[in-house]
Amino acid sequence: MKTKSPNTLLWAILTGIASGTILGGTWPEAGHSVAFLGELFLKALFVLVVPLVMCSIIVGVTSLGDVRRLGPLGGRAVLYFMTTTSLAVVIGLVLVLLIQPGTPGSAESAIGDMTNVSERLEDKPTNVPEMLRTILTGLIPKNLFSAMANADVLPLIIFSLVFGGILTTVGEPGRLVIQVIEGVNEAIMAMVHLLMWAAPVGIGGLIAGRLGEAGGFSGFWPQLVQLGAYAGTVILGLLIHGLIVIPLFLHFIGKRNVFAYARNIGTALTTAFSTSSSSATLPLTMEAVIEENKVSPRTARFVLPLGATINMDGTALYEAVAAVFIAQSYGIELGFAQTVIIVLTATLAAVGAAGIPEAGLVTMVIVLKSVNLPIEGIALILVIDWFLDRCRTTINVWGDAAGSAVIDRLENRVRDGRT
Ligand code: ASP
Repeated sequence: MKTKSPNTLLWAILTGIASGTILGGTWPEAGHSVAFLGELFLKALFVLVVPLVMCSIIVGVTSLGDVRRLGPLGGRAVLYFMTTTSLAVVIGLVLVLLIQPGTPGSAESAIGDMTNVSERLEDKPTNVPEMLRTILTGLIPKNLFSAMANADVLPLIIFSLVFGGILTTVGEPGRLVIQVIEGVNEAIMAMVHLLMWAAPVGIGGLIAGRLGEAGGFSGFWPQLVQLGAYAGTVILGLLIHGLIVIPLFLHFIGKRNVFAYARNIGTALTTAFSTSSSSATLPLTMEAVIEENKVSPRTARFVLPLGATINMDGTALYEAVAAVFIAQSYGIELGFAQTVIIVLTATLAAVGAAGIPEAGLVTMVIVLKSVNLPIEGIALILVIDWFLDRCRTTINVWGDAAGSAVIDRLENRVRDGRT
């Protein structure tokens, strides 16, 4: 019975997606009116994120046995993250240079509205050193509770890592605290289990609501067609990365059956598509990776929260394509050095983007600034960003989920070699 339920759920979710698409696409007002079902689901997911991240990291660290093992595990995770992210950027760059989706002169007739973006860009770092400084200072929370209230995941990860490490060194009282946190962690995972059954309706509501907001098919279609070459380039790149590159890692290094692995995390992938948020999806990714794909909890509990925050292959690919598309639309030629700078800054911008909707759009400013491209160019791609955000978030979550199996296998090999 246990093996049947993920498939049943996946079919229910696919039905939810199809119904949401038809409803929001053909009857935007009705889509609007069921959007609250999606909001409820999203809020329920978000409410679990902070306790889940903190408990799972603490339990993960304390179950490592020896805190010093965290170093190699972290090293492998960062190596996997950086390798796959850079590959994603290179795929994006090659495609955008080959396909040339931007036509010179089209920037003048820019579509979209910058006011929305300008507001979000206020106080955001706009160059590389500033960005690095922001990422580094953001690692330490000023106040633990405000970091929790804002779901600021990175500082919470750092705090939990240190807290978990220290707990293992304080003897009996530490063991008691660990037991309590393990209990909380179990309870949160059980809540995730329960919430998964609301996913079909929640996901359907989110899709119907967003399509309704875009004016149904008749509102969305012209947006897609207008930016078809650009959107097509991003989507093609995401498909190449998601269907070829990540599976190669999963198959050859992770030694997994790619189809079975992907099917088992279907709920997480569809949730990523409907919420546009790696962080909101984290509870479901964690559940599917540990329970269905049997990745060892000690690897998954550490790799997944970190991955949801800093490993964003889809975002990195999109940043590179969007920056070059903007240059092409303004008729600006990019030299070799500038292209290399785009590779570096797109990677950094993806690391710096939070796992929330359209975070990548905001951090793209550093990519544009680094090669002196006009920031107003963002207006060119704004109108379609909500849709591409969903696609790239799905690849972000797929990269994290596959990464945990790859890193787990490397961990096991080292452990087996030692024993
Ligand atoms: N929405 C993406 C995520 O949560 C980040 C982005 O905007 O690219 O993974």
